[in-house]
Amino acid sequence: MNAALQHPKPAAERALSYYSASLNEETHYPTLQGEVNVDIAIIGGGFTGVATAVELAERGYKVAIVETNKVGWGASGRNGGQVTGSLSGDAAMSKQMRQWLGDDVDDFIWHLRWRGHDIIRNRVEKYGIQCDLKFGHLHAAMKPAHMDELKASHEEAQRRGMGDQVTLLDAAGVRANQGSDIYCGALRNTRNMHLHPLNLCIGEAKAAESLGALIFEHSEVLDIVHGERPAVVTAKGRINASQVLLAGDVYHKLERKQLKGMIFPAMGGIVTTAPLGELAQQINPHDLAVYDCRFVLDYYRLTGDGRLLFGGGANYSGRDSRDIAGELRPCIERTFPQLKGVQIDFQWSCAMGIVMNRIPQLGKLSQNVWYCQGYSGHGVATTHIMGEIMAEAMSGSLEKFDTFARCKHIKVPLGDLFGNPMLAAGMWYYQMMEKLR
Ligand SMILES: Cc1cc2nc3c(=O)[nH]c(=O)nc-3n(C[C@H](O)[C@H](O)[C@H](O)COP(=O)(O)OP(=O)(O)OC[C@H]3O[C@@H](n4cnc5c(N)ncnc54)[C@H](O)[C@@H]3O)c2cc1C
Repeated sequence: MNAALQHPKPAAERALSYYSASLNEETHYPTLQGEVNVDIAIIGGGFTGVATAVELAERGYKVAIVETNKVGWGASGRNGGQVTGSLSGDAAMSKQMRQWLGDDVDDFIWHLRWRGHDIIRNRVEKYGIQCDLKFGHLHAAMKPAHMDELKASHEEAQRRGMGDQVTLLDAAGVRANQGSDIYCGALRNTRNMHLHPLNLCIGEAKAAESLGALIFEHSEVLDIVHGERPAVVTAKGRINASQVLLAGDVYHKLERKQLKGMIFPAMGGIVTTAPLGELAQQINPHDLAVYDCRFVLDYYRLTGDGRLLFGGGANYSGRDSRDIAGELRPCIERTFPQLKGVQIDFQWSCAMGIVMNRIPQLGKLSQNVWYCQGYSGHGVATTHIMGEIMAEAMSGSLEKFDTFARCKHIKVPLGDLFGNPMLAAGMWYYQMMEKLR
Protein backbone atom coordinates (compact mmCIF):
# COMPACT_ATOMS: atom_id res chain seq x y z
CA MET A 1 0.00 0.00 0.00
CA ASN A 2 1.23 3.45 -0.84
CA ALA A 3 2.55 5.38 2.11
CA ALA A 4 2.06 8.73 0.36
CA LEU A 5 -1.58 9.00 1.42
CA GLN A 6 -1.58 11.69 4.10
CA HIS A 7 -5.16 11.46 5.23
CA PRO A 8 -6.88 11.01 8.58
CA LYS A 9 -6.81 7.41 9.73
CA PRO A 10 -10.13 5.78 8.87
CA ALA A 11 -12.09 4.40 11.79
CA ALA A 12 -11.30 0.72 12.33
CA GLU A 13 -14.90 -0.19 11.51
CA ARG A 14 -14.59 1.12 7.95
CA ALA A 15 -13.84 -1.47 5.29
CA LEU A 16 -10.38 -0.70 3.97
CA SER A 17 -10.51 0.82 0.49
CA TYR A 18 -8.85 3.65 -1.40
CA TYR A 19 -11.83 5.75 -0.35
CA SER A 20 -11.54 5.11 3.37
CA ALA A 21 -7.78 5.73 3.13
CA SER A 22 -8.30 9.08 1.38
CA LEU A 23 -11.09 10.58 3.49
CA ASN A 24 -11.12 14.35 3.87
CA GLU A 25 -12.12 13.88 7.46
CA GLU A 26 -13.27 10.96 9.63
CA THR A 27 -16.54 11.67 11.43
CA HIS A 28 -17.85 10.03 14.59
CA TYR A 29 -21.47 9.96 15.64
CA PRO A 30 -22.88 8.55 18.89
CA THR A 31 -24.67 5.26 19.43
CA LEU A 32 -28.41 5.68 19.95
CA GLN A 33 -29.19 5.46 23.67
CA GLY A 34 -32.55 6.03 25.34
CA GLU A 35 -35.58 7.58 23.73
CA VAL A 36 -35.49 10.29 21.04
CA ASN A 37 -38.38 12.07 19.32
CA VAL A 38 -38.16 13.44 15.77
CA ASP A 39 -40.39 14.06 12.78
CA ILE A 40 -38.75 11.48 10.52
CA ALA A 41 -36.48 8.53 11.35
CA ILE A 42 -34.33 7.15 8.53
CA ILE A 43 -32.78 3.67 8.69
CA GLY A 44 -29.47 3.52 6.80
CA GLY A 45 -26.63 6.02 6.37
CA GLY A 46 -25.92 5.46 2.66
CA PHE A 47 -26.82 7.86 -0.14
CA THR A 48 -30.53 6.98 0.00
CA GLY A 49 -30.76 7.77 3.71
CA VAL A 50 -28.42 10.74 3.74
CA ALA A 51 -29.74 12.39 0.55
CA THR A 52 -33.33 12.07 1.79
CA ALA A 53 -32.27 13.50 5.16
CA VAL A 54 -30.75 16.58 3.51
CA GLU A 55 -33.90 17.12 1.44
CA LEU A 56 -36.15 16.80 4.50
CA ALA A 57 -33.94 18.89 6.78
CA GLU A 58 -33.89 21.62 4.12
CA ARG A 59 -37.69 21.54 4.21
CA GLY A 60 -37.58 22.12 8.00
CA TYR A 61 -38.19 18.58 9.32
CA LYS A 62 -36.38 17.23 12.38
CA VAL A 63 -34.67 14.11 11.04
CA ALA A 64 -32.64 11.28 12.59
CA ILE A 65 -30.44 8.83 10.62
CA VAL A 66 -29.73 5.48 12.29
CA GLU A 67 -26.86 3.42 10.86
CA THR A 68 -25.64 -0.08 11.84
CA ASN A 69 -22.01 0.70 11.00
CA LYS A 70 -20.73 4.10 9.89
CA VAL A 71 -22.14 6.68 7.49
CA GLY A 72 -21.12 5.55 3.97
CA TRP A 73 -20.16 2.04 5.14
CA GLY A 74 -22.27 0.27 2.49
CA ALA A 75 -22.17 0.52 -1.32
CA SER A 76 -22.40 4.33 -1.16
CA GLY A 77 -18.89 4.61 0.24
CA ARG A 78 -17.29 1.85 -1.82
CA ASN A 79 -18.58 2.17 -5.39
CA GLY A 80 -17.05 3.17 -8.74
CA GLY A 81 -17.98 6.84 -8.28
CA GLN A 82 -19.54 7.15 -11.74
CA VAL A 83 -22.59 9.42 -11.98
CA THR A 84 -24.40 8.17 -15.07
CA GLY A 85 -27.61 9.26 -16.76
CA SER A 86 -29.13 5.81 -16.43
CA LEU A 87 -31.71 4.88 -13.83
CA SER A 88 -31.24 1.13 -14.36
CA GLY A 89 -34.34 -0.60 -15.62
CA ASP A 90 -35.23 2.29 -17.97
CA ALA A 91 -36.78 -0.08 -20.52
CA ALA A 92 -38.85 -2.05 -17.98
CA MET A 93 -39.85 1.20 -16.29
CA SER A 94 -40.94 2.73 -19.57
CA LYS A 95 -43.03 -0.35 -20.46
CA GLN A 96 -44.87 -0.40 -17.13
CA MET A 97 -45.27 3.33 -16.62
CA ARG A 98 -46.61 3.84 -20.16
CA GLN A 99 -49.80 2.17 -18.90
CA TRP A 100 -50.53 5.10 -16.57
CA LEU A 101 -48.45 7.96 -18.00
CA GLY A 102 -49.13 7.32 -21.69
CA ASP A 103 -46.59 8.94 -24.01
CA ASP A 104 -45.55 11.35 -21.22
CA VAL A 105 -43.46 8.46 -19.90
CA ASP A 106 -40.62 9.29 -22.31
CA ASP A 107 -40.30 12.86 -20.99
CA PHE A 108 -40.74 11.68 -17.39
CA ILE A 109 -37.84 9.22 -17.62
CA TRP A 110 -35.61 11.52 -19.67
CA HIS A 111 -35.84 14.38 -17.14
CA LEU A 112 -35.46 12.06 -14.18
CA ARG A 113 -32.32 10.53 -15.69
CA TRP A 114 -30.48 13.84 -15.33
CA ARG A 115 -32.07 15.06 -12.10
CA GLY A 116 -29.52 13.30 -9.88
CA HIS A 117 -26.67 15.13 -11.62
CA ASP A 118 -28.24 18.51 -10.82
CA ILE A 119 -28.92 17.57 -7.19
CA ILE A 120 -25.35 16.34 -6.62
CA ARG A 121 -23.73 19.30 -8.41
CA ASN A 122 -25.82 21.85 -6.53
CA ARG A 123 -25.32 20.13 -3.18
CA VAL A 124 -21.56 19.90 -3.61
CA GLU A 125 -21.51 23.62 -4.42
CA LYS A 126 -23.97 24.70 -1.71
CA TYR A 127 -22.27 22.84 1.13
CA GLY A 128 -18.70 23.06 -0.18
CA ILE A 129 -18.22 19.27 -0.30
CA GLN A 130 -14.74 18.27 -1.50
CA CYS A 131 -15.25 15.05 -3.47
CA ASP A 132 -13.07 15.36 -6.61
CA LEU A 133 -16.16 16.05 -8.74
CA LYS A 134 -15.26 15.95 -12.45
CA PHE A 135 -17.20 15.88 -15.70
CA GLY A 136 -16.96 13.50 -18.65
CA HIS A 137 -17.66 9.86 -19.46
CA LEU A 138 -16.91 7.48 -22.30
CA HIS A 139 -19.45 4.73 -22.88
CA ALA A 140 -17.27 2.40 -24.90
CA ALA A 141 -18.13 -0.22 -27.53
CA MET A 142 -16.13 -3.44 -27.55
CA LYS A 143 -17.66 -4.72 -30.79
CA PRO A 144 -19.61 -3.21 -33.71
CA ALA A 145 -22.96 -4.48 -32.37
CA HIS A 146 -22.53 -2.23 -29.33
CA MET A 147 -22.50 0.84 -31.57
CA ASP A 148 -26.27 0.56 -32.23
CA GLU A 149 -27.00 1.30 -28.58
CA LEU A 150 -24.58 4.24 -28.56
CA LYS A 151 -26.01 5.66 -31.80
CA ALA A 152 -29.52 5.47 -30.32
CA SER A 153 -28.35 7.33 -27.17
CA HIS A 154 -26.59 9.92 -29.33
CA GLU A 155 -29.71 10.50 -31.44
CA GLU A 156 -31.93 10.80 -28.37
CA ALA A 157 -29.56 13.34 -26.78
CA GLN A 158 -29.57 15.40 -29.97
CA ARG A 159 -33.36 15.24 -30.24
CA ARG A 160 -33.61 16.40 -26.61
CA GLY A 161 -31.34 19.42 -27.05
CA MET A 162 -28.31 17.84 -25.39
CA GLY A 163 -26.38 17.47 -28.64
CA ASP A 164 -23.56 19.78 -27.51
CA GLN A 165 -22.82 17.39 -24.60
CA VAL A 166 -22.44 14.16 -26.56
CA THR A 167 -20.01 13.09 -29.29
CA LEU A 168 -20.04 9.78 -31.13
CA LEU A 169 -16.48 8.53 -31.63
CA ASP A 170 -15.06 5.91 -33.96
CA ALA A 171 -12.06 3.75 -32.99
CA ALA A 172 -9.57 6.52 -33.87
CA GLY A 173 -11.66 9.03 -31.91
CA VAL A 174 -11.57 6.78 -28.85
CA ARG A 175 -7.79 6.46 -29.10
CA ALA A 176 -7.53 10.27 -29.03
CA ASN A 177 -9.43 10.17 -25.73
CA GLN A 178 -8.03 7.01 -24.18
CA GLY A 179 -4.72 5.15 -24.27
CA SER A 180 -6.41 1.87 -25.16
CA ASP A 181 -6.84 -0.05 -28.42
CA ILE A 182 -9.66 -2.36 -27.36
CA TYR A 183 -12.63 -0.17 -28.28
CA CYS A 184 -14.20 0.21 -31.71
CA GLY A 185 -16.14 3.34 -30.78
CA ALA A 186 -17.67 5.26 -27.88
CA LEU A 187 -20.11 7.93 -26.85
CA ARG A 188 -18.41 10.80 -25.05
CA ASN A 189 -20.77 12.53 -22.64
CA THR A 190 -19.70 15.71 -20.84
CA ARG A 191 -22.81 15.89 -18.63
CA ASN A 192 -21.99 12.68 -16.75
CA MET A 193 -19.68 13.02 -13.77
CA HIS A 194 -17.35 11.07 -11.49
CA LEU A 195 -16.40 11.62 -7.87
CA HIS A 196 -15.09 10.26 -4.55
CA PRO A 197 -18.33 8.72 -3.22
CA LEU A 198 -17.35 8.32 0.43
CA ASN A 199 -16.31 11.96 0.71
CA LEU A 200 -19.63 12.91 -0.92
CA CYS A 201 -21.67 10.72 1.46
CA ILE A 202 -19.89 11.99 4.57
CA GLY A 203 -20.13 15.57 3.25
CA GLU A 204 -23.87 15.21 2.77
CA ALA A 205 -24.28 13.74 6.26
CA LYS A 206 -22.45 16.77 7.63
CA ALA A 207 -24.77 19.02 5.59
CA ALA A 208 -27.80 17.26 7.12
CA GLU A 209 -26.24 17.61 10.59
CA SER A 210 -25.69 21.35 9.99
CA LEU A 211 -29.44 21.60 9.34
CA GLY A 212 -30.26 19.95 12.67
CA ALA A 213 -30.38 16.26 11.72
CA LEU A 214 -29.34 13.74 14.38
CA ILE A 215 -27.04 10.93 13.26
CA PHE A 216 -26.46 7.69 15.16
CA GLU A 217 -23.80 5.13 14.19
CA HIS A 218 -23.21 1.61 15.51
CA SER A 219 -26.96 1.46 16.03
CA GLU A 220 -28.58 -1.36 14.15
CA VAL A 221 -32.33 -1.05 13.88
CA LEU A 222 -33.75 -4.36 15.09
CA ASP A 223 -37.41 -3.60 14.66
CA ILE A 224 -39.85 -1.07 13.26
CA VAL A 225 -42.92 -0.50 15.42
CA HIS A 226 -45.90 0.46 13.28
CA GLY A 227 -48.74 2.63 14.48
CA GLU A 228 -49.97 6.19 14.64
CA ARG A 229 -46.53 7.24 15.84
CA PRO A 230 -44.11 4.63 14.49
CA ALA A 231 -40.73 3.94 16.05
CA VAL A 232 -37.39 2.35 15.24
CA VAL A 233 -35.85 0.21 17.94
CA THR A 234 -32.16 -0.57 18.50
CA ALA A 235 -30.45 -2.59 21.26
CA LYS A 236 -30.03 0.50 23.44
CA GLY A 237 -32.59 3.01 22.23
CA ARG A 238 -35.72 3.94 20.37
CA ILE A 239 -36.69 6.79 18.06
CA ASN A 240 -40.33 7.80 17.93
CA ALA A 241 -41.30 9.65 14.77
CA SER A 242 -44.25 10.73 12.67
CA GLN A 243 -42.79 8.83 9.70
CA VAL A 244 -40.06 6.25 9.10
CA LEU A 245 -38.01 5.58 5.95
CA LEU A 246 -36.28 2.23 5.53
CA ALA A 247 -33.18 2.90 3.38
CA GLY A 248 -30.96 -0.10 4.17
CA ASP A 249 -30.89 -1.40 0.56
CA VAL A 250 -29.59 -4.98 0.38
CA TYR A 251 -28.08 -4.89 3.88
CA HIS A 252 -31.21 -4.85 6.00
CA LYS A 253 -33.22 -7.84 7.12
CA LEU A 254 -36.26 -5.91 8.32
CA GLU A 255 -39.92 -6.31 7.36
CA ARG A 256 -39.32 -9.76 5.84
CA LYS A 257 -43.00 -10.49 5.43
CA GLN A 258 -43.38 -7.76 2.82
CA LEU A 259 -39.87 -7.34 1.46
CA LYS A 260 -38.40 -10.85 1.41
CA GLY A 261 -37.49 -12.06 -2.09
CA MET A 262 -37.46 -8.59 -3.64
CA ILE A 263 -33.77 -7.58 -3.64
CA PHE A 264 -30.59 -9.67 -3.92
CA PRO A 265 -26.89 -9.03 -3.35
CA ALA A 266 -24.31 -9.05 -6.15
CA MET A 267 -20.70 -8.58 -5.11
CA GLY A 268 -18.66 -6.03 -7.02
CA GLY A 269 -14.86 -5.78 -6.81
CA ILE A 270 -12.68 -2.70 -7.31
CA VAL A 271 -8.93 -2.07 -7.21
CA THR A 272 -6.77 1.02 -7.33
CA THR A 273 -3.22 1.05 -8.59
CA ALA A 274 -0.35 3.03 -7.14
CA PRO A 275 -0.29 6.67 -8.39
CA LEU A 276 0.60 6.50 -12.10
CA GLY A 277 2.45 9.81 -12.48
CA GLU A 278 2.83 10.73 -16.17
CA LEU A 279 1.26 7.44 -17.26
CA ALA A 280 -2.08 8.72 -15.94
CA GLN A 281 -2.05 11.49 -18.54
CA GLN A 282 -1.13 8.98 -21.26
CA ILE A 283 -3.89 6.50 -20.55
CA ASN A 284 -6.63 9.03 -19.80
CA PRO A 285 -5.64 12.54 -20.97
CA HIS A 286 -9.12 14.06 -20.46
CA ASP A 287 -9.72 12.48 -17.05
CA LEU A 288 -12.88 10.69 -18.20
CA ALA A 289 -14.76 7.91 -16.44
CA VAL A 290 -15.13 4.93 -18.76
CA TYR A 291 -17.54 1.98 -18.81
CA ASP A 292 -18.11 -0.49 -21.60
CA CYS A 293 -21.35 -1.70 -23.19
CA ARG A 294 -21.32 -5.31 -21.96
CA PHE A 295 -23.96 -6.61 -19.57
CA VAL A 296 -21.26 -7.45 -17.01
CA LEU A 297 -18.94 -4.58 -17.64
CA ASP A 298 -15.56 -3.08 -16.75
CA TYR A 299 -15.54 0.51 -15.47
CA TYR A 300 -12.69 2.76 -14.50
CA ARG A 301 -11.46 6.28 -13.96
CA LEU A 302 -8.54 8.15 -12.43
CA THR A 303 -8.64 9.16 -8.78
CA GLY A 304 -7.83 12.66 -7.56
CA ASP A 305 -4.22 11.58 -6.97
CA GLY A 306 -3.73 9.89 -10.35
CA ARG A 307 -4.35 6.21 -9.62
CA LEU A 308 -6.37 3.99 -11.91
CA LEU A 309 -9.53 2.90 -10.08
CA PHE A 310 -10.83 -0.15 -11.93
CA GLY A 311 -13.91 -2.25 -11.23
CA GLY A 312 -15.75 -5.03 -12.94
CA GLY A 313 -17.15 -8.50 -13.04
CA ALA A 314 -19.93 -8.50 -10.44
CA ASN A 315 -20.48 -11.88 -8.77
CA TYR A 316 -24.19 -12.69 -8.91
CA SER A 317 -23.96 -15.77 -6.75
CA GLY A 318 -23.91 -13.32 -3.81
CA ARG A 319 -20.56 -14.78 -2.64
CA ASP A 320 -17.48 -12.67 -2.15
CA SER A 321 -14.34 -13.08 -4.24
CA ARG A 322 -11.17 -13.56 -2.23
CA ASP A 323 -8.74 -12.37 -4.91
CA ILE A 324 -10.15 -9.25 -6.50
CA ALA A 325 -6.76 -8.00 -7.67
CA GLY A 326 -6.07 -11.40 -9.26
CA GLU A 327 -9.41 -11.21 -11.10
CA LEU A 328 -9.10 -7.62 -12.26
CA ARG A 329 -5.40 -7.44 -13.16
CA PRO A 330 -5.91 -9.28 -16.51
CA CYS A 331 -8.76 -6.86 -17.37
CA ILE A 332 -6.53 -3.86 -16.59
CA GLU A 333 -3.63 -5.24 -18.63
CA ARG A 334 -5.89 -6.12 -21.56
CA THR A 335 -7.25 -2.55 -21.55
CA PHE A 336 -3.89 -0.87 -20.96
CA PRO A 337 -0.91 -3.15 -21.89
CA GLN A 338 1.34 -0.26 -20.81
CA LEU A 339 0.24 -0.98 -17.20
CA LYS A 340 1.52 -4.57 -17.23
CA GLY A 341 2.75 -5.46 -13.74
CA VAL A 342 1.44 -2.21 -12.23
CA GLN A 343 1.37 -2.15 -8.44
CA ILE A 344 -2.09 -2.53 -6.94
CA ASP A 345 -2.40 -0.65 -3.66
CA PHE A 346 -6.02 -1.28 -2.69
CA GLN A 347 -8.64 -3.92 -3.40
CA TRP A 348 -12.09 -4.27 -1.94
CA SER A 349 -15.52 -5.63 -2.65
CA CYS A 350 -19.02 -4.70 -1.66
CA ALA A 351 -22.60 -5.87 -2.14
CA MET A 352 -24.99 -3.96 -4.36
CA GLY A 353 -28.75 -4.52 -4.30
CA ILE A 354 -30.08 -6.07 -7.51
CA VAL A 355 -33.76 -6.10 -8.39
CA MET A 356 -35.04 -8.67 -10.91
CA ASN A 357 -36.65 -6.15 -13.29
CA ARG A 358 -34.09 -3.43 -12.41
CA ILE A 359 -36.76 -0.85 -11.46
CA PRO A 360 -35.99 0.95 -8.17
CA GLN A 361 -38.41 -0.21 -5.47
CA LEU A 362 -40.37 2.53 -3.68
CA GLY A 363 -43.28 1.74 -1.45
CA LYS A 364 -45.13 1.89 1.86
CA LEU A 365 -45.04 -0.76 4.57
CA SER A 366 -47.83 0.91 6.49
CA GLN A 367 -49.51 4.31 6.52
CA ASN A 368 -46.41 6.21 7.67
CA VAL A 369 -43.54 3.75 7.10
CA TRP A 370 -41.88 3.91 3.69
CA TYR A 371 -39.08 2.08 1.89
CA CYS A 372 -36.81 2.89 -1.03
CA GLN A 373 -34.18 0.46 -2.37
CA GLY A 374 -32.69 -1.44 -5.30
CA TYR A 375 -30.74 0.51 -7.91
CA SER A 376 -28.98 -2.49 -9.50
CA GLY A 377 -25.51 -0.96 -9.77
CA HIS A 378 -26.69 2.50 -10.89
CA GLY A 379 -27.22 4.12 -7.54
CA VAL A 380 -25.04 7.21 -7.25
CA ALA A 381 -27.36 9.50 -9.22
CA THR A 382 -30.49 7.40 -8.65
CA THR A 383 -30.28 7.51 -4.84
CA HIS A 384 -30.29 11.29 -5.07
CA ILE A 385 -33.28 11.30 -7.42
CA MET A 386 -35.13 8.92 -5.09
CA GLY A 387 -34.09 10.99 -2.06
CA GLU A 388 -35.89 13.95 -3.59
CA ILE A 389 -38.93 11.85 -4.53
CA MET A 390 -39.14 10.31 -1.04
CA ALA A 391 -38.80 13.73 0.64
CA GLU A 392 -41.56 15.10 -1.60
CA ALA A 393 -43.75 12.09 -0.76
CA MET A 394 -43.13 12.32 2.98
CA SER A 395 -44.06 15.99 2.87
CA GLY A 396 -47.28 15.27 1.00
CA SER A 397 -46.52 15.43 -2.77
CA LEU A 398 -47.06 11.88 -3.93
CA GLU A 399 -47.12 12.22 -7.70
CA LYS A 400 -43.64 10.87 -8.57
CA PHE A 401 -43.63 8.40 -5.68
CA ASP A 402 -46.93 6.92 -6.90
CA THR A 403 -45.55 6.63 -10.43
CA PHE A 404 -42.83 4.35 -9.08
CA ALA A 405 -44.86 2.65 -6.36
CA ARG A 406 -47.38 1.39 -8.96
CA CYS A 407 -44.66 -0.61 -10.76
CA LYS A 408 -44.96 -4.37 -10.35
CA HIS A 409 -41.95 -6.25 -9.03
CA ILE A 410 -40.98 -9.89 -9.15
CA LYS A 411 -41.02 -11.38 -5.68
CA VAL A 412 -39.06 -14.64 -5.65
CA PRO A 413 -40.68 -17.28 -3.42
CA LEU A 414 -38.10 -18.58 -0.91
CA GLY A 415 -35.98 -15.67 -2.14
CA ASP A 416 -33.17 -16.21 0.36
CA LEU A 417 -32.68 -19.68 -1.13
CA PHE A 418 -33.46 -19.20 -4.82
CA GLY A 419 -32.96 -15.47 -5.48
CA ASN A 420 -29.23 -15.47 -6.15
CA PRO A 421 -29.19 -18.71 -8.20
CA MET A 422 -32.00 -17.23 -10.34
CA LEU A 423 -30.07 -14.01 -10.74
CA ALA A 424 -26.89 -15.89 -11.64
CA ALA A 425 -28.81 -17.95 -14.23
CA GLY A 426 -30.32 -14.76 -15.69
CA MET A 427 -26.91 -13.12 -15.90
CA TRP A 428 -25.46 -16.21 -17.56
CA TYR A 429 -28.26 -16.07 -20.14
CA TYR A 430 -27.63 -12.38 -20.90
CA GLN A 431 -23.89 -12.96 -21.15
CA MET A 432 -24.47 -15.80 -23.62
CA MET A 433 -26.83 -13.63 -25.67
CA GLU A 434 -24.22 -10.91 -25.68
CA LYS A 435 -21.55 -13.26 -26.97
CA LEU A 436 -23.87 -14.03 -29.90
CA ARG A 437 -24.43 -10.35 -30.73
C1 LIG B 1 -18.62 -2.32 -6.17
C2 LIG B 1 -19.75 -1.39 -6.51
C3 LIG B 1 -19.59 -0.44 -7.51
C4 LIG B 1 -20.63 0.43 -7.83
N1 LIG B 1 -20.39 1.43 -8.75
C5 LIG B 1 -21.36 2.33 -9.02
C6 LIG B 1 -21.09 3.42 -9.89
O1 LIG B 1 -19.97 3.63 -10.36
N2 LIG B 1 -22.13 4.25 -10.19
C7 LIG B 1 -23.37 4.07 -9.67
O2 LIG B 1 -24.28 4.84 -10.00
N3 LIG B 1 -23.63 3.09 -8.76
C8 LIG B 1 -22.66 2.22 -8.42
N4 LIG B 1 -22.90 1.23 -7.50
C9 LIG B 1 -24.22 1.17 -6.85
C10 LIG B 1 -24.39 2.19 -5.72
O3 LIG B 1 -23.21 2.27 -4.95
C11 LIG B 1 -25.58 1.80 -4.81
O4 LIG B 1 -26.71 1.57 -5.63
C12 LIG B 1 -25.93 2.87 -3.80
O5 LIG B 1 -24.79 3.32 -3.13
C13 LIG B 1 -26.96 2.35 -2.80
O6 LIG B 1 -27.13 3.31 -1.79
P1 LIG B 1 -28.03 3.01 -0.53
O7 LIG B 1 -27.92 4.18 0.37
O8 LIG B 1 -29.39 2.64 -0.96
O9 LIG B 1 -27.38 1.71 0.14
P2 LIG B 1 -26.01 1.54 0.93
O10 LIG B 1 -25.01 2.55 0.54
O11 LIG B 1 -25.62 0.12 0.82
O12 LIG B 1 -26.42 1.92 2.41
C14 LIG B 1 -27.29 1.14 3.18
C15 LIG B 1 -26.89 1.39 4.64
O13 LIG B 1 -27.93 0.92 5.48
C16 LIG B 1 -27.34 0.39 6.64
N5 LIG B 1 -28.30 -0.53 7.26
C17 LIG B 1 -28.81 -1.66 6.74
N6 LIG B 1 -29.67 -2.24 7.61
C18 LIG B 1 -29.71 -1.44 8.70
C19 LIG B 1 -30.39 -1.53 9.95
N7 LIG B 1 -31.19 -2.55 10.25
N8 LIG B 1 -30.20 -0.53 10.85
C20 LIG B 1 -29.39 0.52 10.56
N9 LIG B 1 -28.69 0.64 9.39
C21 LIG B 1 -28.85 -0.33 8.47
C22 LIG B 1 -26.08 -0.31 6.11
O14 LIG B 1 -25.14 -0.49 7.14
C23 LIG B 1 -25.62 0.64 5.04
O15 LIG B 1 -24.66 1.56 5.50
C24 LIG B 1 -21.88 0.34 -7.16
C25 LIG B 1 -22.04 -0.60 -6.14
C26 LIG B 1 -21.00 -1.45 -5.80
C27 LIG B 1 -21.18 -2.44 -4.68
